[in-house]
Amino acid sequence: MRGAIEFIVDGDEYSDDERLGIAAGLSITFRRVLVYAEPSAGALQAARNAVWGALLISPCPPELPCFGDVEAAADYSEAHLTPAGYRGPRPVTSRRRVSTFNKHYLRPWRWASGGENVTVGHYLLPLMACIYAAVRLLDAAPVVVSDVRLEPRAKPPPDYMVIPTWHAPGEIAEIVDVYLPPLKASAIALGMLAGGYRAGPVITVARARDRLVERVAELGGYAVVLDEPGDACRLLESRVVGYAPRRGTYEVDPLLCDRCGECLKSGCPALVPSPSGAPQILPACTGCGACAILCARGAIRQRAGA
Ligand code: SF4
Ligand code: SF4
Repeated sequence: MRGAIEFIVDGDEYSDDERLGIAAGLSITFRRVLVYAEPSAGALQAARNAVWGALLISPCPPELPCFGDVEAAADYSEAHLTPAGYRGPRPVTSRRRVSTFNKHYLRPWRWASGGENVTVGHYLLPLMACIYAAVRLLDAAPVVVSDVRLEPRAKPPPDYMVIPTWHAPGEIAEIVDVYLPPLKASAIALGMLAGGYRAGPVITVARARDRLVERVAELGGYAVVLDEPGDACRLLESRVVGYAPRRGTYEVDPLLCDRCGECLKSGCPALVPSPSGAPQILPACTGCGACAILCARGAIRQRAGA
């Protein structure tokens, strides 16, 4: 049935769950996709939260409605925001739409501040600061797809991953976050790139480097690999970087500070404005260095010898 399906994900290069992850990324960009895979129950459950276009799976998983007609299956999947099984002949693919993306507008750093859920200096906070510092001068809406949830130390945890980005300095970000374990973040990112997300960089935060991470970079995306050493602030120039934040003791030099307030966009509860307008670092600081990354004037520095 011509036009019902835009992409088919098939072959042995990736595992069944990885193929489903790629298909989920395509569906997130509002594409209509058919994947040939026998995914695990966990992956299938995660994919239920990633159906924004049409996501068909063949052979039909027993948990899903099963269709012999590809157009009916695609229409059902799209209308009900659920994967659908498909048992018909291999369809002809046809691109028929421009990709759009459902951006979530959320307040940044929900997980990092507020009430009992205060988390100071989360170990991914410097990564977020690097991403923000890299894109703040771009009119871009990055998408960060991560294998790691940003969990606060206290309960309850947030129900989504929060990545702050800004169109321009001083504005609340358009925040796009994708966290769908056990679907691999790099597989989802690959699908999103193939689906045509172009409003900003697609960044995957992966536990380890693998073929999917390499493919993300080849398709124009970016990757932070958590089990490798490296400087995440070099992300846009290097495409694939490791991540090795170091703790230190930080202080503010009020003579260098111009009161621009950029550092406060870290959302860190241990950094507050002082009466003079310069930020003040509170004793709760864990020394993650995220605020220093955001300060272009070098007014937040690691204390000598610390
Ligand atoms: S410490 Fe740096 S980023 Fe923060 S207000 Fe001062 S100059 Fe701006
Ligand atoms: S004050 Fe700065 S260095 Fe300390 S925890 Fe907050 S962001 Fe990290």
